[in-house]
Amino acid sequence: MSSNSVNKNRYFESIKKLEAIYENIATNATEVSKWRCPYKDAKDNCTAKFGCRNQDRSINDGSPFPCIGSDKLDYRNAWEV
Ligand code: SF4
Repeated sequence: MSSNSVNKNRYFESIKKLEAIYENIATNATEVSKWRCPYKDAKDNCTAKFGCRNQDRSINDGSPFPCIGSDKLDYRNAWEV
């Protein structure tokens, strides 16, 4: 076996591991998206390019608006479309 040859079994094991990792990520993202708005970043700022009643617009210095959504209600009702 040359050093460049691919071990098929290891290749398929790696693909299965990657699938499991991505499936886990997707499952967690789906769960979190049920209560946390996908536009809220890690610092609780809003990244949406549209208006939303949960944006704290009291500070308008060009920085992202803080999200004041509670994560307890359906955030989609606040979107201004
Ligand atoms: S709930 Fe509204 S303000 Fe909060 S992150 Fe989502 S879109 Fe932005």
